Amino acid sequence: MSSAAKHVILPGQTIGILGGGQLGRMMALAGRAMGYRFVVLDPAPDSPAAQVADAQVEADYSDVKAARQLAKEADIITYEFENVDAQVASILSDEAYMPQGSHLLFITQHRIREKQTMEKAGVPVAKWRAVFTFNDLKTVFQESGKRGILKTTRGGYDGKGQWRIVPESRLEDIWNECQPYLRVHGQDEAGPLIYEWLVPFVREISVIVTRGVQGEQSLFPVIENHHQNGILYMSIVPARIPEEAVRLAQQAAVKIADQLQLVGTLAVEMFLTESGEVLVNELAPRPHNSGHLTIEACATSQFEQHIRAICGLPLAENRLLTPAVMVNVLGQHLHPLLEQIDRLPRNVKLHLYGKREPKVHRKMGHLTCLGDIDTALQFIGSSKIWATDSER
Ligand code: AMP
Repeated sequence: MSSAAKHVILPGQTIGILGGGQLGRMMALAGRAMGYRFVVLDPAPDSPAAQVADAQVEADYSDVKAARQLAKEADIITYEFENVDAQVASILSDEAYMPQGSHLLFITQHRIREKQTMEKAGVPVAKWRAVFTFNDLKTVFQESGKRGILKTTRGGYDGKGQWRIVPESRLEDIWNECQPYLRVHGQDEAGPLIYEWLVPFVREISVIVTRGVQGEQSLFPVIENHHQNGILYMSIVPARIPEEAVRLAQQAAVKIADQLQLVGTLAVEMFLTESGEVLVNELAPRPHNSGHLTIEACATSQFEQHIRAICGLPLAENRLLTPAVMVNVLGQHLHPLLEQIDRLPRNVKLHLYGKREPKVHRKMGHLTCLGDIDTALQFIGSSKIWATDSER
């Protein structure tokens, strides 16, 4: 069946999710409440999503036979990560019903294609260049005033595959560090690396947009994001930014969703600069960590909205019900959290993803603090959960 076909997937039918992590788990929890059934493809036997699904295909994400099995067991396919193997993506979009299509993956798997798409949509992005050779890097280092970020075009996440460049940087060392990444991801026509001018941002924000099969859109309120060690640490809604920045951010998200002919949910990460400019940084063609707070803070969560969009149901009202602050619980935060779980304030909602091993920096869950933002920030700052070892 063609992915362009527009039809309604009814409750009782089965949604197949490629990937069994926390995003798949929260999609399945939202979809189960609506009566959908779920099958998950993931190599880990007891993955977070499989724990709440009806069935699991236990195989590698790039296993073509397993992808066909998933397609056979499901009436519709979605994914919870963008680095889907190209062959698997094309099988799923040709032989199954995957309304998000494989083009969205083709674009968002590659930072240069993504940048070009944003430029085509008419949204501002940081100045950038493709870097093929060490000479290219030296040239662009000078051109950018020696401040930038060098990124792999594929496969980077949570700050991996990126190198911050400052005037003191030793380019030879950085170039050497890149080489293993280039060998893994290969060289292609668009250039193996992208160099971005460093944006002196005052805030990082995201807009989550959902677009239905008929082109109708719904925007979640703009979210403010704070990172630590390249990993999202905390998100705040509504973002504490001027009205005009909210307008620019939402306008950019709408333009990108239209340009991509999006079906489903897309997170658009952006920078707000001191002068009030909003620059788009990157796209995630799925529900996003910064949107976890929509579960309690909005009338409809990003996960339910995603399920509605791909299944051809009307998008639901998703207005903000309360301000909220979400903090990620990483492996190192789990023990201190569990120690005080019986004393958490009443406005704090706990989500854990059912992962067994609390490895350092592994996303184990999140907490969403509802209500006044300053009170939430005070709780987070004074709680020992996110303190470093030396602060404890
Ligand atoms: P990314 O993987 O592109 O989301 O980048 C991870 C983080 O690096 C972002 O959340 C920013 O904090 C920072 N970053 C990425 N690109 C830039 C840029 N061009 N200028 C300044 N900071 C950046």
